[in-house]
Amino acid sequence: MNLILLGPPGAGKGTQAINLAKKLGAAHIATGDMFRQAIANGTPIGKKAKEYMDKGVLVPDEVTIQMLLERLGQPDSKNGFILDGFPRNISQAEALDKALSDRNSTIDAALLIDVKDSELIGRLTGRWVCRTCQTPYNVKSPQPKVQGKCDRCGGELYQREDDKEAVIENRLKVYREQSLPLIEYYSKRGRLKRVSGEQAIGNVEKDLLEASKATAGRVK
Ligand code: AMP
Repeated sequence: MNLILLGPPGAGKGTQAINLAKKLGAAHIATGDMFRQAIANGTPIGKKAKEYMDKGVLVPDEVTIQMLLERLGQPDSKNGFILDGFPRNISQAEALDKALSDRNSTIDAALLIDVKDSELIGRLTGRWVCRTCQTPYNVKSPQPKVQGKCDRCGGELYQREDDKEAVIENRLKVYREQSLPLIEYYSKRGRLKRVSGEQAIGNVEKDLLEASKATAGRVK
């Protein structure tokens, strides 16, 4: 199954994508994680992306789309994928649709995790992320078993530069201006499902699984 997770920064896309990918046996593909890895490795893409990420704005489409399409060409994507953080504007959505249709494939569902603005800033400023595997934690929940260490890989937890309040405002503005139109884009194509992100993590996951199953078996 090929799924997209939509929603503002702080909606819980990363946490849910990790769990859903495990349950569905799909590849978890997060463009933000890919950029952070490229920055850590000091690659040319990483150097370019950092300029934009530090300001909370989108990395240019020509860099992002090519990186994503190359990733989709890897063998693990053949069993289905969950996109987390892509597409983030209409031209990315169109490029994705075209690339998939060239491969005789499609997006099965775009799952929107709805969280109101007033909740997001608190979630983002309280977020800690594993430097090695990018698993997100929060000062409220989920918390790591050992403080400062990742449960999955033992990596060091840190606060992302762009999770500081000055940059968050900008990321939310970019979301409203560039990413919100995606809701209508997928709704018009009969792919959109909404799930409340303001409930316990396990309940959000249950709703996402149900929403994605409801789309399985539909004629493409
Ligand atoms: P995320 O980890 O999804 O919150 O993304 C962190 C940052 O990476 C964003 O604020 C953007 O600067 C950049 N980024 C991630 N995904 C994309 C994308 N699809 N298009 C452009 N920039 C992106």
